[in-house]
Amino acid sequence: MSNPDKRDQADYLPHDHAVMPADISADLRRVLYDMPGGVLLMDRDWRLTYANERARQISRIGPEDLNGPTHWELFPATLGTDVEQKYRRVMDERVEEEMEFFYEPFRIWIHVRAVPVENGIGVFYQDVTELRRVREEAAAKTRQLQQVFDVTTDAVVSLNREWRYIFLNRRAKDLLGVGDEMLGEVMWNRFPEAVYPDSPFVANYYKAMMQRESTAFEAYYPHPLNKWFRLECLPSEDGIVVFFRDITQRKLDEESLRQSEERYRILAEMSPLAIWTATPQGDVNYANHTFLKYLGPEFELDTGTTRAWIEAFAPEDRERLVAAWMHSVQTGEPYSVEARMIRGADGAHRWWCVEASSVRDADGQITRWLGIAIDIHDQRVAIEALRQEKEESERQRAELEAIYQTAPVGLILFDPKELRYARINDRQAEMMGMTPEEVLGKPVEEVVSSPVVWSNLRTVAAGGVVRDYTFETEFAGRPGEKQSFNVNYSPVFDSDGKVRAVSVAALDVTQLRKAERALLQSEKLAAVGRLASSISHEINNPLEAVTNLLYLVAHDPALPKSLHSYIHSAQDELGRVSQIATQTLRFHRQANKPTLVTPAQLVDAVLNLYQGRLMNSDIHVEASYSTTAELLCFENDIRQVLNNLIANAIDAMRSGGRLVVRAHNARHAPTGTEGVRIVVADTGSGMSVETQQRLFEAFYTTKDLNGTGLGLWISKEIVDRHRGQLTLRSSQDERLHGTVFSLFLPLR
Ligand code: ADP
Ligand code: MG
Repeated sequence: MSNPDKRDQADYLPHDHAVMPADISADLRRVLYDMPGGVLLMDRDWRLTYANERARQISRIGPEDLNGPTHWELFPATLGTDVEQKYRRVMDERVEEEMEFFYEPFRIWIHVRAVPVENGIGVFYQDVTELRRVREEAAAKTRQLQQVFDVTTDAVVSLNREWRYIFLNRRAKDLLGVGDEMLGEVMWNRFPEAVYPDSPFVANYYKAMMQRESTAFEAYYPHPLNKWFRLECLPSEDGIVVFFRDITQRKLDEESLRQSEERYRILAEMSPLAIWTATPQGDVNYANHTFLKYLGPEFELDTGTTRAWIEAFAPEDRERLVAAWMHSVQTGEPYSVEARMIRGADGAHRWWCVEASSVRDADGQITRWLGIAIDIHDQRVAIEALRQEKEESERQRAELEAIYQTAPVGLILFDPKELRYARINDRQAEMMGMTPEEVLGKPVEEVVSSPVVWSNLRTVAAGGVVRDYTFETEFAGRPGEKQSFNVNYSPVFDSDGKVRAVSVAALDVTQLRKAERALLQSEKLAAVGRLASSISHEINNPLEAVTNLLYLVAHDPALPKSLHSYIHSAQDELGRVSQIATQTLRFHRQANKPTLVTPAQLVDAVLNLYQGRLMNSDIHVEASYSTTAELLCFENDIRQVLNNLIANAIDAMRSGGRLVVRAHNARHAPTGTEGVRIVVADTGSGMSVETQQRLFEAFYTTKDLNGTGLGLWISKEIVDRHRGQLTLRSSQDERLHGTVFSLFLPLR
C-alpha cells in the first residue's frame, strides 16, 4: 500500500457539506484518507459519498462514482447476498455488522465492518485474500502435522510457557488415558506425582523450558499410569515439545534379565563345574571361579585380537581344538571336544571334556556362547585301566578256555539243580564217544547209567566234596566198552556261598587199569619163566643121568627083546624133554647183539614148544622152508613174534584145523630190500573187520581173561625195530575161514 499523492487529495474531498458531517475536521479527513483499510460512506439512498484512497483501489472506483450511482448499481454482485442483508440491517436498524465475503467479480476476499453514521452507513474494509491464503496454508500445515504426529509411534505433547497442554497427538492421549479436554490444562496439576524432590520430570522439563536445552531421560510415573517412560524434551517457540514412549515392558525385561544374569553369575561362580562364555566371534570373555582356579593366575581371557585360551591346552591338542572351535563359531553348531588342559598349579596335563552351545536372540542371531568344561581325567584313566583289566582277564579267560578244552582230563560242569550238562570239554566228549552238542543240556541220567555217579553229583550239589572216586561205566556213545574213571567232584560257589555249579574232573584210567593188570600178568609170567628156566637148569643134570642110565639099559644084552621098543620110546621122550629144557633156557636168555639164524631154526623152535598143544587140539602142522638164507636178527625177539602168531593161530582153532608155516626168499616191493617172508596161516575162526583194525592196539583182546591183548602190539614193535613188515588177511566166511599173517624180514 502506498501513500496517496498529496497533490490529488483536494479532488477527492467531499464537496457537498450536506453529505459530510460538518464537524469532521480536516485532520480527521487526513486520517481517513491515509488509513491502510478502505473506508466508504454511503447515504441513505445507498449512494457513495466518500471513498478514501484505499477504498478506491480495492473497489476499483473513481471520483465519478461518488454522489452518483448507488452501491447496488456499482456492485451488483452483492445484491441478494449476505452482504446486502447485513448492510440493510446496519442502515435500517442502526447496528454494527462485521463480515467476510468473497467478491466474485474481483475474485478477492474482503473483510468488512459496517457501522451506522448520521446520514447513512460507513464501511471499513480490507482485502484479506492474501491473509486468508496464508492463514489457510498454516491451518493445512497444522492439520498435516497433526496427522503426522497421530501416526508416529511416539507420543507427542506440547506445553506452553504456562505448562498448559496445547497439543497432544493420538498416541499421547492413549498413553495418558485422556482426551481433548486435556488441552489448556496445566500439566503439573494433572500429573502431581511428577513433582517431588529430585524428580527427573521437574529437572528435565525445567531445563528445556528455562534453559532452552533439549533433554532426554527415562522415568517412572506411578498410579494411575504405572508406567516407565522414555522422554525427550525439546524447547519450542512458545514452550516445549515432549516426545515420549512407554518402555515399561523393556524395563521389566531388562530387570528380569538383570536379575537372572545376576543369579546366573552367582551360580556360575559357585558351580563346581567349570563354566565359560565367549563372544559370537569366539573370543573367550568369561571363566568362572572353578575354571580359573584350575587354569591358574597365568590364564588370560581373549582380547579380541589374541586367542589366549589356546595356551591353556596341551600343545598336541591345540590344532584340533582351534579347528573344531572355528567350525562351531562359523556354523553355530554345538562344540564338544575332549582335550588335555594344563593345570596352572603343577603343569599337569589332565583330560577335560569341553562343550559349548550358542545363545541366540529372538531373531536367531548368536549373542554369545555358553560353555562348560568337566575334568574327566580320573574317569578316563579309570576307563583305560578297566579296559586293560578287561583285556587281561579276557586273555586269562581265553588261556583257561584253551587249557580247559585241550586238557587230557575230562572236565564237566553241571547245573546244581537238575544236574544237566552245562559245559563239557573235548576230552570228556571223546571219552563218552559223543559230540558236546549231543550232551549239553541233557540230564546226567540220560548219559551215564551209573546211579553212584548220580548220587555223587547230588552230594556235591548240596555242598559236599567227593574225591578220587574210581568207577567203571559204559557210555551210550561207546556201547560194549567198559571204561574206568578216576573222578573228582567239587562244588563251584558263587560270591554269596551258594553252589553255582558242580565241577567234575574225570581221568580215563581204563588203559592204566589194563596196564596194571598186564603188568601183574607179565610179572607172573616172568616169574614163571624164571622158574621154568631154573627148573630146566635143575632138571638137566638128572635128565642127563637118566639119559645115560637109559643108554646103559638099552645096551645091556640081558635086556629082553620085548622091552627094546619101550626103552626106545623112553629115550625119544626123554630127548624131547631135554630139548624143551634147552629151548626154554635159550628162550629166557636175553641177547644184546643180533645173531645169524635161519627161518627154519626160528620156526622149529617154536613149533617144538607147542607140539603137545597142537596134537591135543587136533591141528595138523604143515611147515616147509624153501630158503636157507640166514637172517641177522635178535633171535629171541623174532622167536617171540612167531610164538605170538602161532599161539594166536592155535587159539583160533579150538576145534582143530590146519596150521601152515612157510618161509621163502622175498623182496620188499616198495623198497626192493632183500629178505625172507614167513607165512603163518590157520583155518581158524577168522576175525571181524573191527578186530582186524584194532588188533595191533595194546590191550585189545577178544579173549577176556585168557588174553592180554599185548601179543600183536609187542610183535609189531619188534618187527618195526627190525625194519620188517607184518600184514594179515582174514576171513570169517563159513567155508573159507581163517587167517594169514605174513612176516617180512630183511636179511640185514
Ligand atoms: P591176545 O592174543 O592176548 O588176545 P593179541 O594181540 O595176540 O592178543 O591178539 C589180539 C586179538 O587179535 C586176539 O584177541 C584175537 O581176537 C585176534 N587174533 C589175533 N590172531 C588171530 C588169528 N590168527 N585168528 C583169529 N583172531 C586172531
Ligand atoms: Mg596172542
